Amino acid sequence: MQNQSPPFARALIIDDDPILLEVGRAALLAYGVVHVEGAGHGREALDKLAADPEPFDLVLTDLEMPEMDGMTLLRNLSSVGYQGAVVVLSSMDRSVLNLVEQLGKSHQLNFLGALAKPISLEKLRSVLDAASGPEAPKFTPVADQVKITPEQLRTAIDTGAVVAHFQPKVHSGTRVVEGAEALARWNDDRLGWISPDIFILIAESCGMIQELTWKILKDSLQFVADIREKSPDFVVSVNLPTELIRDLETPDRIAQMMSDLGLPAGALTLEITERQLLDVTSTALEVFGRMRMKGFGLAIDDFGTGQANLSVLKTYPFTELKIDRSFVVGVDQHQRSQAMVASCVTLARDLEMKVVAEGIETQPEMQMLEKLGVQTMQGYLFSKPLSEPDFMTWFAEREPRPKA
Ligand code: C2E
Ligand code: MG
Ligand code: MG
Repeated sequence: MQNQSPPFARALIIDDDPILLEVGRAALLAYGVVHVEGAGHGREALDKLAADPEPFDLVLTDLEMPEMDGMTLLRNLSSVGYQGAVVVLSSMDRSVLNLVEQLGKSHQLNFLGALAKPISLEKLRSVLDAASGPEAPKFTPVADQVKITPEQLRTAIDTGAVVAHFQPKVHSGTRVVEGAEALARWNDDRLGWISPDIFILIAESCGMIQELTWKILKDSLQFVADIREKSPDFVVSVNLPTELIRDLETPDRIAQMMSDLGLPAGALTLEITERQLLDVTSTALEVFGRMRMKGFGLAIDDFGTGQANLSVLKTYPFTELKIDRSFVVGVDQHQRSQAMVASCVTLARDLEMKVVAEGIETQPEMQMLEKLGVQTMQGYLFSKPLSEPDFMTWFAEREPRPKA
């Protein structure tokens, strides 16, 4: 292992309770795990472990779950070639946890321990830090390195240090840059650029997410108004948090901001993650309906990572489907990812939705996605997210660049 890399890069957390899944996910991210996915039961977890092109190195599982429980999962982990670490999380009493610990070891798993629920960052640390071993590197979790407090985030929002950066979305047939996704960035004088994976969680749990989102929306609408002077069909996409999809005033307020800038509704697409659809209220349904009636685009983000049933695509008026990066990594080499992408393309075509693939880093990935019928591409292969001035320079130098 390299010294600078975290001990765990990709974790899978398995729990049938969506709230506990989110709490666990937040704790793992706060500990410093780079990428965290969730599954609702053992069978779904095994499918994910078998299908994922990049191996997971940490599994955190509940014991009591429908379909396939934690004990059965432990028994089956080696059958899908899983070689990473395992932690069990349960509300069962200590004697059961001790037994599970024995069981894990007997399956020859790299079993780190069994933790009593509820999960906390301290408890996680106690097992995960110990797992690093004496010769293993000591990774300082990102959250510890930057020591962010809600007060610091408050000040950052108030002083305008949180801004939108923009990552281009490129049409696969023509290579025309048809739009960009706004991604929040915090530029701290002392700490440099801070990742949204850290501060969005704090913003959500400390009541600052609404304000943060209005700021990102304001930056994004000004950006699209500027760029439309050169490229009149350009569309900006903004990630919408659950709090705003539960507020009936959101569609009107956005529409007002757009009309103040003379922008048509079609200049904006709002992205909602598949996970956010797990607990949609009737208010949220009405908000989706109003947003579509106004003419905003509506994208389902990180598609394939949540547990949303395919029928949600029929129920909700989405205009765009964003295939998650986990199906894009190495898609040129992995048949399962190709099958997943192909079925998304067919489904989206039937439902008259646009398909976007995100996280494209290599030419072979891009070529395979194009062959499979993905219309729009986003990823480091084209550009990382850029500040508005850098985006404008990049855009001016690039355009027009038809496909070779
Ligand atoms: P997302 O909406 O799925 O955004 C895509 C993420 O993938 C971005 O991470 C982007 O920088 C990253 N990405 C794009 N291309 C590549 C690639 O080729 N390779 C790799 N490895 N990564 C790539 P970022 O900016 O760190 O954002 C992470 C997540 O934070 C976003 O995921 C989104 O869910 C959330 N987020 C970001 N900005 C906002 C915001 O303004 N509001 C809300 N509510 N959430 C936001
Ligand atoms: Mg997004
Ligand atoms: Mg996404």
